Amino acid sequence: MPFLPPSWVPPLPFDPPDSISIADFMLEEHYGRHPLGYSRPMFTCGLTGKEYSTLEVRERVDFLARGLSKELGWHPNQGSEWDKVIAVFSVNTVDTLPLAWATHRLGGIQTPVNAVYSAAELEYQLKDSGATCLFTCLPLLATAKEAAKKCGIPDNRIYILEVPKAFTGGRGTPSGMKTVDDFIHDGARLERLEPLKLAPGEGAKRTAFLCYSSGTSGLPKGVMISHRNVIANTLQIWAFEKPFREKKRQPATQSDYTENALGLLPMSHIYGLVVICHASVYRGDGVIVLPKFEFAQTLESIQKFKINSLYLVPPIIILMAKNKPVLDKYDLSSVWSLFTGAAPLGSETAEDLQKFFPSWKIRQGYGLTETCTVVCSTSPEDVWFGSSGSLIPGIECKLVSLEGAEITGYDQPGELLVKSPSVVLGYLNNDKANKETFQDGYMRTGDEAVIRKAPSGHEHVFIVDRIKELIKVKGHQVAPAELEAHLLTHPAVNDCAVIQVPDEKSGEIPKAFVVKAPSVGLEDSERILARQIQKHVEDHKARYKWITGGIEFIDVIPKSPSGKILRRFLRDREKEKRRQA
Ligand code: AMP
Repeated sequence: MPFLPPSWVPPLPFDPPDSISIADFMLEEHYGRHPLGYSRPMFTCGLTGKEYSTLEVRERVDFLARGLSKELGWHPNQGSEWDKVIAVFSVNTVDTLPLAWATHRLGGIQTPVNAVYSAAELEYQLKDSGATCLFTCLPLLATAKEAAKKCGIPDNRIYILEVPKAFTGGRGTPSGMKTVDDFIHDGARLERLEPLKLAPGEGAKRTAFLCYSSGTSGLPKGVMISHRNVIANTLQIWAFEKPFREKKRQPATQSDYTENALGLLPMSHIYGLVVICHASVYRGDGVIVLPKFEFAQTLESIQKFKINSLYLVPPIIILMAKNKPVLDKYDLSSVWSLFTGAAPLGSETAEDLQKFFPSWKIRQGYGLTETCTVVCSTSPEDVWFGSSGSLIPGIECKLVSLEGAEITGYDQPGELLVKSPSVVLGYLNNDKANKETFQDGYMRTGDEAVIRKAPSGHEHVFIVDRIKELIKVKGHQVAPAELEAHLLTHPAVNDCAVIQVPDEKSGEIPKAFVVKAPSVGLEDSERILARQIQKHVEDHKARYKWITGGIEFIDVIPKSPSGKILRRFLRDREKEKRRQA
């Protein structure tokens, strides 16, 4: 018997529609959405205060789609979605989501790219996704151009998402480059586009977003997320949340339970994209958009915009818990909920922060790119530190032991398997990974979990370990296979393995075990060599992938008879070493 959401969790209000686009679901009212006219301004720039009402966003999306259609020659009901892939390599902007929805209006796909990527990393995603044009922001333009050139994307297919001048060092968009605003301006004078028509069931098969995740093993892969996947998780999150919001409702106004949400986490990651942008906006909340984490600026924005719900990752929460005097400088009394996800939050940190803010509900959610985000979440009335909360509506899960037996009891660890309308279509062009990950309607998460009964009597999910290779640095994915492939290009590296080691600030960081090439002389200093190898990574990879956990030289990488690196062995060895230190 699979585990189901607890009895208090309401069912989905309706079956997630499978014949509409995400854009229609988000911008039209007849899909259970909070009334547009009563919603908060959908997106507000946290740096300038410029806000866009929901009705303005709807119009901008419409005009932007028309402008893009003319520029790119794409039409809503012509051609495959795979011929209409737009890459977005940018920090968060007020136009990031409107651009995605305009792309969906044209029947296309958006592939969001992590804004801290190097040119080589961007090039990999551009090539793999088949993107033919690229939106970027001014601070990332040089990197975008370098990568686009290597992929044959011409300069006139690179466009600009504008960010406030405060963030560009006062620079403006170079002349001749088109911005989102230019397209909107042009689009306003163009004829209305025919609506995108999806046949029944097509919304559940058609890719809308192509996000990247390494899954349980190997290199980052394109995760095909359908229109219905995003719609489903948005509805699942809302159905779970609604009873608590309704309790807070004040009957006098219609907009009573809407609130302001912190839009700081990258919209290129599934957490920022679905939980913050889609779920918040659907229930009428306003998203205060910040391009980058800066401690003081974030606190200032919470105070200035009276933000009610914080969406954060553990490293930021650790920073808050350790810096009470900084927090004291700001009025954070508007906050009632702090939601964390993407990596585990230690209960000690939650307890520390709770002491400063006794009224805050410190809540944890668990999810993956492959489940189009949330699987379980803490309810505000059933907070249990360390837990990732209860299953949300529409989710079924199973726990399976290492031997493959189904676990049905409490407190017994097993791999978590998830069934949900939000489980994605699969990985792009990767049958092997698809077969390994998606089995009998369930998605194998590669995470080890236990189910426990809370003092409230409800079942909670605890994520206790990670079976898969993935390393999570500050909530970002680091694929060991990607770093290993890169390390092997260094002439001094004969073989290598990368694992995670714990780190107070980042949660985890990568550490490499290296077998030296025969050409390396005995007299060569290991310290200097280690530094050279680290530099080789630093020159080509985003900062969070740097081998800050150190390099250890060993004689041989432990492998199974089939040649698979025995990471668990290395991780256990490392744990033991640290325990003894
Ligand atoms: P991503 O696809 O980048 O969201 O990464 C998903 C992975 O992040 C999961 O498979 C987990 O290993 C990890 N993760 C996400 N949320 C949590 C959480 N609340 N606790 C522990 N690990 C988490």
